[in-house]
Amino acid sequence: MFMKHPQPLAARPLTPEILDLLRKELGHEAVLTDPALLGEHGGDESGLCIPPQAVIKAHTTEQVAHLLRLANEHGFPVTPRGGGTGLAGGCVPVQGGVVLTLGEMNRILSIDESNMLAVVQPGVLNQDLKDAAKAVGLCYPPDPASLDTSTIGGNAATNAGGPACVKYGVTRQYVLGLTVVLPSGEIVRTGGRTRKNVVGYDLTQLMVGSEGTLGVITELTLRLIPHPAAVQAMAVVFPDLTVAMQAVTGLLLSGCTPSALEFLDSKCLHLVGDLLPFGDMGESAAMLLIETDGEEAQVQREMERISALCRKMGALHLLPAEDEGRREELWTVRRQVSVRIHDTWAVYVPEDVAVPIGRIAELVRELPELEQRYGVSIYAFGHSGDGNIHLNITATDRENMKPVGNCVEEVLKRVVAKQGTISGEHGIGFVKKVFLPWEIDKKSIEIQRGMKHLFDPNMVLNPGKLFLEGEEDS
Ligand SMILES: Cc1cc2nc3c(=O)[nH]c(=O)nc-3n(C[C@H](O)[C@H](O)[C@H](O)COP(=O)(O)OP(=O)(O)OC[C@H]3O[C@@H](n4cnc5c(N)ncnc54)[C@H](O)[C@@H]3O)c2cc1C
Repeated sequence: MFMKHPQPLAARPLTPEILDLLRKELGHEAVLTDPALLGEHGGDESGLCIPPQAVIKAHTTEQVAHLLRLANEHGFPVTPRGGGTGLAGGCVPVQGGVVLTLGEMNRILSIDESNMLAVVQPGVLNQDLKDAAKAVGLCYPPDPASLDTSTIGGNAATNAGGPACVKYGVTRQYVLGLTVVLPSGEIVRTGGRTRKNVVGYDLTQLMVGSEGTLGVITELTLRLIPHPAAVQAMAVVFPDLTVAMQAVTGLLLSGCTPSALEFLDSKCLHLVGDLLPFGDMGESAAMLLIETDGEEAQVQREMERISALCRKMGALHLLPAEDEGRREELWTVRRQVSVRIHDTWAVYVPEDVAVPIGRIAELVRELPELEQRYGVSIYAFGHSGDGNIHLNITATDRENMKPVGNCVEEVLKRVVAKQGTISGEHGIGFVKKVFLPWEIDKKSIEIQRGMKHLFDPNMVLNPGKLFLEGEEDS
């Protein structure tokens, strides 16, 4: 549950006349106003929910373009929505108007094996693309934990990442070309089908991570890679997080390229320790979940090397997964952390900060002092290979919202002071925009606001996101 939301902005209502016009122009069946459906399309996983006045289910690029032209003529907001799994309120229609869902545009248009490319509509679920690529021996690596429910369009709009990033990078690295409907209703095609392209400004990469504020993505051309033949996983327990993080740096410096390098701090480990066969691991123990992939023999060699390095660097226990079933069990341990936190605490704020890899332990070491000062419990886990830490700040009841909020602010300040970022994955959306000026300097914000204005002078596309209103952040 998120607690610190900026105030929703003044709504820019759709008048009954505009609703009638939308029905006339886009078709009666396209414009949905059933209250239950509006409720379902008003929120995301941040906990913020503001029902729109209408939901429009997109089916074609031209229909999206038509809607945005009407939005410009009549001044109503349009908020794009994929799977609604966002954690920053990005798809929440904070100024009312229309929610444009892309979930029905969910066809994989082609998988081009010889060029290792996929062309997809934005509503394709991440897992569906992975499955289709795997069926022909290819792989689409980006793997947000929400892969069963989040869309490729939403993944591109938020530049989603996951455990595989440490080896394969984030969504951005796989987007070669886009069809985008600009806020004006004009359609542009950016990039293409080549792996290299330096012609002009890179509009493709500008759109990736722009959180639905600069354009609506209606088609994506994506890079695929050969599917790894083999994969192996291992859980490694260290006496404490400092030693575990030294091992992370040591592994990366030694030239190992794990395909996942996740960590659980001692608090998380206690929460899920019953799922592991180690018995008492000690108060301060921390765990790494390490995975390698590639050719069978190479994977075997790399795992042996990683095991030896971990032992040398102070590992207490090594638990290699002997088969696919065991490997899945190890990932269950990792996934159960979030589930158990959610089950245990009435209030939890999931922050997704990132710091330079060498500073993870330093940040985590400061958490007990913050727990004491604010009367909260903080769980740290996540993608140690990327320095991306999921910090869940928790409390027993809603009475404690204020100290939780104060603690979040202190954590974010410390992260920025450590040359980190307030969001490694989830984005700014609505709920984090008050913190944007903490990380980005005035001039950069001014340039970004200018870009938004250039693309969307009438502020019809996903208004109220990323930047504070007025001059508060400048
Ligand atoms: C359980 C859980 C686990 C998660 N794990 C991860 C993780 O490991 N890594 C990670 O990065 N994130 C994670 N997330 C966050 C979330 O899943 C990602 O941000 C995801 O990429 C959002 O995709 P979506 O389709 O749900 O988009 P939505 O939530 O619908 O929208 C997100 C943003 O994208 C915009 N948008 C959506 N579709 C389009 C489009 N076609 N064109 C333009 N803009 C669009 C929206 O306006 C909004 O700003 C997790 C969330 C949950 C609930």
